[in-house]
Amino acid sequence: MSKTFFIRTMGCQMNVADSDLVAQQLIERGFLLTENVNEADIIIVNTCTVRQHAEARALSYIGDLKKLILSATSATETLADRESSADPHKPKSRKIIVMGCVASRLKDELKKKFPFIDDVIPANEIEKVSEVLEKHYDCLTSNLSNKTFSEFVTITRGCSNFCSYCIVPYVRGPEESRPVIKILLDIEKLTNSGKHEITLLGQNVNSYNSNGTDFADLILKINDISEINKLGFMTSHPKDMSDKIIDAIASCEKIPHQIHLPLQSGSDKILKLMNRHYTKEKYLTIIGKLKKKIPDVKFTTDIIVGFPDETEKDFNDTLEIVKEVNFASAFTFKYSPRENTKAFFMKDDVPMSIKKERLARLNALLKIESKKDVR
Ligand code: SF4
Repeated sequence: MSKTFFIRTMGCQMNVADSDLVAQQLIERGFLLTENVNEADIIIVNTCTVRQHAEARALSYIGDLKKLILSATSATETLADRESSADPHKPKSRKIIVMGCVASRLKDELKKKFPFIDDVIPANEIEKVSEVLEKHYDCLTSNLSNKTFSEFVTITRGCSNFCSYCIVPYVRGPEESRPVIKILLDIEKLTNSGKHEITLLGQNVNSYNSNGTDFADLILKINDISEINKLGFMTSHPKDMSDKIIDAIASCEKIPHQIHLPLQSGSDKILKLMNRHYTKEKYLTIIGKLKKKIPDVKFTTDIIVGFPDETEKDFNDTLEIVKEVNFASAFTFKYSPRENTKAFFMKDDVPMSIKKERLARLNALLKIESKKDVR
């Protein structure tokens, strides 16, 4: 009888894509996906640590799994009893695997905190999930399937940008561009399974480069695939949004006219402290070029308020850009320090009350701007 697995995914689209990849690998090895955590032989938790709150949520979920294991049959049965159980459908066969960014950050600490975890797999080693399961289950069948779950295609892994507030480079490792041939094979698999709208994923897709094929070359190539109807990508980084990429985006008719371009702050001083490597002027120049080439283009963005040393003037610079660009929507956040990042060692000197107040003002302005049609 096939073993079942359940995946709980937390965090960003990269995690969603990673979970899909793992699910695909497991199905190819004869495991069955279940939506019911209670009946799963393998429980995989794909975690996020981008903010302290996300990490706390992941740890709380893992903690709750212990209750689930203990309550699955009898409240008096201990984990040790179960480990010695002869019944293969008892929890002796149930494995808990934690993967993703919390796994990268805390590694063995996780196992110490939650001894019932069987394996911890860092975000940059997800290919190991099926290897790890082969260690636990020796009767795997090879039932290669063409099933795909999402329309996401990862083009780069990791990140080498070290924005000063961000933990991703520490937990996902340096940026690596996947070879074009592998990306095209993934796309072929998707189109063969009936998916014709794809989204290319990477922490910074604009810096993609595999043996001289850059992001512009890649999107032009994919745009030419007749089975693809719609081509999205995320996330762009203004520092790497070259004229060549802008021209390519404008000439790919399959790319929707809505582009996500993280701003983070409208203040040059704060952008420098954030290590973003662009200025307000460069950001607005990119927006202007895209608007010129794609007159009906809309933009979405990410903005952080209350970064260390953000004054009222710096915050007003952000509001000015919001008015100028007329974003369709935005993900907005209050800054919170992440351990060991460069910003962690800066004084978190904007009081929480001011962060909240700025966030409310920003969101109110975004709401007004998103309703305007200024084209
Ligand atoms: S580009 Fe910056 S914000 Fe994005 S993942 Fe890399 S370090 Fe983090």
